Amino acid sequence: MPRCKMCGRKSIFLSVNEYGLCDMCYSYICEDYRNRERILVESRKIIETSKNPETQLRCINVMKEHFQVLLKYEKIGIPITDPPPSVLLKRLDIERNKIIKSKNLEINKEPLGKKYKRLSEEFGEKLKTYEKIDQLKKFFKNPQYELNPVIEMQLHRHELEEILNIMVDRNNKGIELEKKGDIGSAIKLYEQNVADEFFGTHPYDRLTIIYRRKKQFDDEIRIIKRAIEIIGDIKYRKRLEKAKILKEKYKERIR
Ligand SMILES: [Zn+2]
Repeated sequence: MPRCKMCGRKSIFLSVNEYGLCDMCYSYICEDYRNRERILVESRKIIETSKNPETQLRCINVMKEHFQVLLKYEKIGIPITDPPPSVLLKRLDIERNKIIKSKNLEINKEPLGKKYKRLSEEFGEKLKTYEKIDQLKKFFKNPQYELNPVIEMQLHRHELEEILNIMVDRNNKGIELEKKGDIGSAIKLYEQNVADEFFGTHPYDRLTIIYRRKKQFDDEIRIIKRAIEIIGDIKYRKRLEKAKILKEKYKERIR
């Protein structure tokens, strides 16, 4: 009895094509593919013409997102692209790593936390220019409705995620290292996040605790001051007073 690979319908009256798909599923997939193909072609064009590695990386991320969706067709045996999405995804990863390596030195010019905030604000401004929210909804439902705003938003979201991930990874690795007792390496990672003006409390909190334990009161005070500048939480003002008092007491004790 004919059975559709995708929707699972099964009936003697059902006609399935050479890929094992019913008419409904086949036309759905074709439509879905066409929409994504446009975005893929557009992104590829930007990668080839842009000289800005950040733009290129953003486009690669957009392409990856669409190939991830197409991958699910490949997995049920539908020859969606040649070469198949799984191969294209691997190639994109290689391309991505090459670009990252080549621009590694440039990445650290602007503190990442600052960059994240700047880009978020810029995006907020841009959103205002898209006037009506239902227009936005149309873009999402129907990507070919107007290509550029959709791509722009996807690119933007990926860019922010990438920046945030670098800093969140450092925090997570720092936690792991602390558990293993490698405090020195954890300090390095947390200090990188402080240098990058990370806007969450974790690196500041951990560093102040570690430095106090090590009786490095000057370092503790330096980190608390940075936290006040960047996060502005009141709790750090109290901690600053406490750290100053402890520092004095410690000095006296040594004398
Ligand atoms: Zn079907």
